[in-house]
Amino acid sequence: MPKIDKQIIDKILEAAKIEEVIQECLGSYGPNNRAGLKKTGIRYKALCPFHDDKSMGSFIVYPKGNCYKCFSCGAKGGVVEFLMEHEKLSYPDAIRWLGKKYNIDVDNVDVDWTYTPKPAPPPMPTLELPMPMVKRTQADLSTDNLVTWIRKGIHWDYVQRARVEQMLTDYHVGHGKNGHTIFWQIDESGKVRTGKMMKYRADGHRDKQASWSFDFIHSVLSKHWDAERHEWTDEPPYPYPDIYNPDKEEPHITFFGMHLLNKYRHATIKLVESEKTALLMAIAYGNHDQQLWMACGGLEMITRDRLKPLIDQGRQIILYPDRDGIDKWKIKAEQMHYDRLSIDTTPVTDWWSEEDGDKADIADVVIRMLNNSKPLTSIADVKVAIPQAAPLIDKLNLQIEK
Ligand SMILES: [Zn+2]
Repeated sequence: MPKIDKQIIDKILEAAKIEEVIQECLGSYGPNNRAGLKKTGIRYKALCPFHDDKSMGSFIVYPKGNCYKCFSCGAKGGVVEFLMEHEKLSYPDAIRWLGKKYNIDVDNVDVDWTYTPKPAPPPMPTLELPMPMVKRTQADLSTDNLVTWIRKGIHWDYVQRARVEQMLTDYHVGHGKNGHTIFWQIDESGKVRTGKMMKYRADGHRDKQASWSFDFIHSVLSKHWDAERHEWTDEPPYPYPDIYNPDKEEPHITFFGMHLLNKYRHATIKLVESEKTALLMAIAYGNHDQQLWMACGGLEMITRDRLKPLIDQGRQIILYPDRDGIDKWKIKAEQMHYDRLSIDTTPVTDWWSEEDGDKADIADVVIRMLNNSKPLTSIADVKVAIPQAAPLIDKLNLQIEK
């Protein structure tokens, strides 16, 4: 087969517009197509088709750079990469697909494989939110469902209980006026990047039935409530242009707990999926000097880029997958090519019991063990639980206060 003339490929790539290609694959955004492409200012966005995306704001399409980028999972590229990744086409077939769409004849011609990708998205400053905004949400947690459950719904032991308030403060857990628990994301240099907003029920589980149960702070800051159409819109002018203008700043998603990195310089990083788990494990085990719990927010959020601050410091990293994600996390761990990164499934395999269920994460298992543990009711119990204290108990003839 004759090789297709490079000039024809160039002509096709010249004609192809990223927003038109993606629109053809995803459709346009509308009431019946929440996953479609939507114009916002000078750019477009959509729910990311490359990860399990729950709210718009991460996947951005740049007509100017003729490329796309997802700020959550890291997917990026130009028209050809999109077709290869999304439509699962080979490079020659992607060229043919484009030839057809733009009426440039490439039928029955072999396509040369050499291809230089389009340039990366134009760099924009990274969004940084003001710290007072974080502090305001931390001021009163008394009506927060998750916080109330953590304070009152778990049988913490004496030492753990004393750590509850400290950890809520250390991790900057906040409460939003619409009932969301806010997990602020502050990066390794102390800059507030965004916050994850989630609604919880009084029993400490996610309230996925609630309206508007999940969002990101940066996404909310660019949206208006359109009372007439009864939906969120995100066209300019943006409601808080002095805080966030999506046409001028790029969001950045980091790990929950990343800001603690430089304060605890020798700690092993223990990485879990959910923010709630990281927080509960920090309360249960404490000691940031040795072990620092962080949450990635989902497997697709673990990227080499996002691990960079940890890798640069040569940190030991241990991943703790949920019980139903062990195999996928093992694959991911290998893909990271970092020899100080390992995976520990002990809590969800060895400590696991039927009642934890197949979706159990490490926190579920630990909380179940805490809640099932019997209180120490006799001096004999105490001596077994804390053998180092036994001689002192005998010497002082201590009794349990009834
Ligand atoms: Zn994505």
